[in-house]
Amino acid sequence: MPIKTWELDPNFKNEILNEQGGEHLTACYQCSTCTLGCPITELVPSYNPRKIIQMSLLGMRTEVLSNPDLWICAICQTCTARCPQNVVVGDVLAVIRRLAEKAEEAGEIKIESPRPLFETAFLHTVEKYGRLYDIGLAMEYYPKREGSFVAGQKAMMNDYMGFGMRMFLKGKMGPLGGHGLFKGLLASKIKQRDVMEKIFKWVEEKEK
Ligand code: SF4
Ligand code: SF4
Repeated sequence: MPIKTWELDPNFKNEILNEQGGEHLTACYQCSTCTLGCPITELVPSYNPRKIIQMSLLGMRTEVLSNPDLWICAICQTCTARCPQNVVVGDVLAVIRRLAEKAEEAGEIKIESPRPLFETAFLHTVEKYGRLYDIGLAMEYYPKREGSFVAGQKAMMNDYMGFGMRMFLKGKMGPLGGHGLFKGLLASKIKQRDVMEKIFKWVEEKEK
């Protein structure tokens, strides 16, 4: 892809540097150790965290923020552990994903991945119940991903019939989630949910 210098945003690296987790971006000397150790590159050979960092340093803001590869990172932190420059690559990628979500809210880009919807639904269940509630997550995620309640239910059943049924046959979950036949249908809540509410409020304040 040819680089058009007049389209580069030299301030993009500062956006990352100013966020918690992105402080060490400029220490990268492009050795590629992060990419060589990344388990996702074995599944998706084109995935390249080193390249995402290089493009960020160059100021290729739109290309980086709209790159669908950002959303296939498994957050395993192998890259972070192996980076000789302590770039904290996994956190840098998390910062870039947060910036991508803000850019989408501002109408600057379109994120071509359902993962932000999944992560939001996941956090909503944790905020509400203090732990993961599979049914609650699925009931929020699938309709949003598919664009309607009916299409969401259909997609959910299709997914369940594959992966979910295999887990059920191994005794890992009931047809409605959780362990046992019906356990998991209702949300199981932790006792001190007020503590969870405080944590979420604290994070909200920090993000303002
Ligand atoms: S391992 Fe660290 S220094 Fe090497 S390319 Fe990756 S981020 Fe840059
Ligand atoms: S954190 Fe993401 S980029 Fe780093 S090694 Fe794991 S999957 Fe790859």
